[in-house]
Amino acid sequence: MTIPETFDTNAEQDLESRVAEIKREIKAEYRQSHSKPWIIGFSGGKDSTLVLHLVIESLLEIPWSERKRAVYIVANDTLVESPIVQGFVDETLEKLTTALADLQLPCAVKKTVPRVSHTYWVNVIGRGYPSPTRMFRWCTDRLKIRPTTDFIRQKVSESGEVILLLGVRRSESAARAATAKRYDNGERLNSHNDIPGCLVFRPILELATEDVWEYLMTRQPPWAGTHNALVKLYRDAMGGECPIVIDPDAQPSCGSSSIRFGCWTCTVVDKDKSFRNQVDKGFEHLIPMAEFRDWMKSFCYIPENRMQERRNGQQGIGPLTFESRKIVLDRLLELQEAVGLPLISDEEVREIHKIWEDDKSTGVMRRADRLITMLEER
Ligand code: SF4
Repeated sequence: MTIPETFDTNAEQDLESRVAEIKREIKAEYRQSHSKPWIIGFSGGKDSTLVLHLVIESLLEIPWSERKRAVYIVANDTLVESPIVQGFVDETLEKLTTALADLQLPCAVKKTVPRVSHTYWVNVIGRGYPSPTRMFRWCTDRLKIRPTTDFIRQKVSESGEVILLLGVRRSESAARAATAKRYDNGERLNSHNDIPGCLVFRPILELATEDVWEYLMTRQPPWAGTHNALVKLYRDAMGGECPIVIDPDAQPSCGSSSIRFGCWTCTVVDKDKSFRNQVDKGFEHLIPMAEFRDWMKSFCYIPENRMQERRNGQQGIGPLTFESRKIVLDRLLELQEAVGLPLISDEEVREIHKIWEDDKSTGVMRRADRLITMLEER
């Protein structure tokens, strides 16, 4: 995918009228006579940025007295995001928080993170999970789906029902098109397949990628500034994103072979081109992180670094040995020191030591421990 440099004037007028129609839909939905809160899934990528841009513009066109419905802008941080992307997302969230208060909109920004027992490092270094692959992609659910889902469920329990706004577009990818089709009931709102009480609203479903870029590159966001930093981020990474994922069936777009934004640790793709490309464009001090990711990809799959028993007790190639887990932790702490960025928290290190103690106390895990772990890891 390339980002266009110029736009056709006729096409621009056509886009203007299609966007006006989208904003009419947004306003009509917002003005419904119930108070189900809105939740906007915001990844910092182009599609969710456009949804947010259009929602805020639409709300500003509604009289102040009618802006009653709560809107939550939810951004998930896997805690292993590319620091370049996360820095950009954090900056956007900060700008938003300030602007939303000034604009007197009933919107709140919320950042979700995985539970400490589910983080990337607690699973790899604590439990000895090998770094994820296409066949064993244990990460997306724990790092991306559950934190956002937990927040949505909490709001459902408080309000009865919620409306989730997503930047899903039919033309974005085969996986997203399949998801889009599954939600097509001909109505503006569709029930979420896995979260009872959650209705899905996809305002930009029919827009093409060129439309999204055109709108973002020719308009200023209502929270001030420009979208230039977003465009640069994509240009540097040369492509798509590991999107906000709240639907297990949409997972293939996370960690797929397309160039995308994602975790800096991601080993699901052979070469993380997006992180490498970003690092090469003025972030050379992060090269050790890209090298560490490459090292992990081979280290975790050397047979001698793995136990001969699986965590469920079956014979076969199992988790990383304790020695290997310790090597990964030591090297990660060295890396953290070298790059001067927080890569693992003290809370995670404490959780890792707790899991090691539990695992070691019996030599092999007791049957009861296995059961608990299996239940907890579901
Ligand atoms: S980017 Fe890679 S490591 Fe991160 S959740 Fe997606 S597949 Fe997993």
